[in-house]
Amino acid sequence: MLSMEQGTGPMEMLTTLGRQVGLTQAEVDRATERLTGAFSSLMATDKPSASFDVNRLVSGLGKNLLDNPMLVAWGLKVAARTGDEVFSKFIGNFLKRSVVERKSVVDNMADELGYHPPSTILINPTMRCNLRCKGCYAYSFDQKADMDRDVIERILLQAKDLGIHFITMTGGEPFLYPEIEDIFQSHPDITFMVYTNAQRIDAARAQRLAKLGNVWPTISVEGYETETDERRGKGVYAKLIETMGHLKDAGVLFGISAVPTRHNTDMLASDEFLDHYIDQGALFGWMFTYMPVGKDPDIDLMATPAQREQLRRQSLHWRQSKPFFMSDFWNDGPLCGGCMSASRIAFITTDGWVQPCVFVQFATHNVHEHSLRDIFDSEFFHAIRGRQPYHPNFLRPCKIIDHPHVLREVVEKCGARPTYPGADSIIKDQHIRDHLDNYSQEYAEIAEKTWNSEDYEGGHSVQVPFYGRSDLYKIYEPYMRRAHAQVGTPMPSCSGKVENRPKKTESRIKIQ
Ligand code: SF4
Repeated sequence: MLSMEQGTGPMEMLTTLGRQVGLTQAEVDRATERLTGAFSSLMATDKPSASFDVNRLVSGLGKNLLDNPMLVAWGLKVAARTGDEVFSKFIGNFLKRSVVERKSVVDNMADELGYHPPSTILINPTMRCNLRCKGCYAYSFDQKADMDRDVIERILLQAKDLGIHFITMTGGEPFLYPEIEDIFQSHPDITFMVYTNAQRIDAARAQRLAKLGNVWPTISVEGYETETDERRGKGVYAKLIETMGHLKDAGVLFGISAVPTRHNTDMLASDEFLDHYIDQGALFGWMFTYMPVGKDPDIDLMATPAQREQLRRQSLHWRQSKPFFMSDFWNDGPLCGGCMSASRIAFITTDGWVQPCVFVQFATHNVHEHSLRDIFDSEFFHAIRGRQPYHPNFLRPCKIIDHPHVLREVVEKCGARPTYPGADSIIKDQHIRDHLDNYSQEYAEIAEKTWNSEDYEGGHSVQVPFYGRSDLYKIYEPYMRRAHAQVGTPMPSCSGKVENRPKKTESRIKIQ
């Protein structure tokens, strides 16, 4: 084992790390040079509260080198393997605008607006799709209409006006939208994460995306070839692997997304699965455990509470062992203070309805009639934000599957309408209601034990990627206070516990 006390400097540690994850010496040199420049540019920000975040980031990076080096290795890979424009936009657009400077921008805005606007908006520019995947919720929506280009432009301008520079495109297949690349080009100050089946990205398009630099394709996979083709159609897997090759060669930052269900969680939560896509060049990933939404939700597809815990453990293991940025949507509640609907995200359907998140398929307002400012100021959005977090245990963040009474209550109170026929089955169908009530109770038992375990230091802290171990009662103090008030438990008095714990001195970097 290597330790700082043995006189190993940060540069030597970075080189060791980089070589461990397969970078050549030339790639390590390129990465360290780029990262040094990037940090200088982040430190030079003129936003008043940003320096605090940068300092926290820098000190977190130091801690990560010791505690969690694979995240640093991931940063090295991004810096070594992405194209010039992609890396430049990753730092200038994403890290600077959407992470470092965002706090000060949005805090100022909150004084004026009376609420904090979301950090990202998801948009469905089209519900058309070239595939016919089994069970896809896209078919719940109108298949004919695309969103008008001028509506998309209006949304993007209004989003930027609210300090939002991170937009997620989903669908349908976004790359079927005729002017999609024009949109990316017209807004170089926005980072676009695009969920795609990868069938419409050839070598030429991959090169254009690299030149634009602000697009992160996120490719849906079901597992390996058999599972992907079984659900998505023959030949889909071969094409998406080919696309990954084009994106990797062009230096585009791309990732994967997968939907764990009762039937595939063992496979998806395996090192082999992740290694396979790391080998294809994927640098980040999303796990979206199956949610019983859509026209005919299948509750039997939901991963069991035990499988959800299995995935959580595996996600923590991956963060310690793989140079990859994995987000496990429901299990990562502790990293973001619980549910993000209406507060940190919003979702706009192709016909303009603004949902609090992708899976809460109810709305009261439409962008054809109202501005985003007004919509985020609506009773529905306020009602959701005002109830968050629903519980101090952030492993149970969701009002759909963990606290189903909350969804029923806010929808009824605000008169929210389903955004397509049948979307309200999640609150009206007695069979689904009973299932979710049972599921939430069963999972609560597991989550309470886990929350009190060492992983979260008895429900007090969490390992935040890059920032290091963080005290929840410090970073989310008002949130934690509200969470305890929601469930009528006292606010613990032992804040500061994390800072007082003994510091680790040994690194997990192994010298081969
Ligand atoms: S309601 Fe559930 S699915 Fe939607 S953001 Fe909150 S936790 Fe996620």
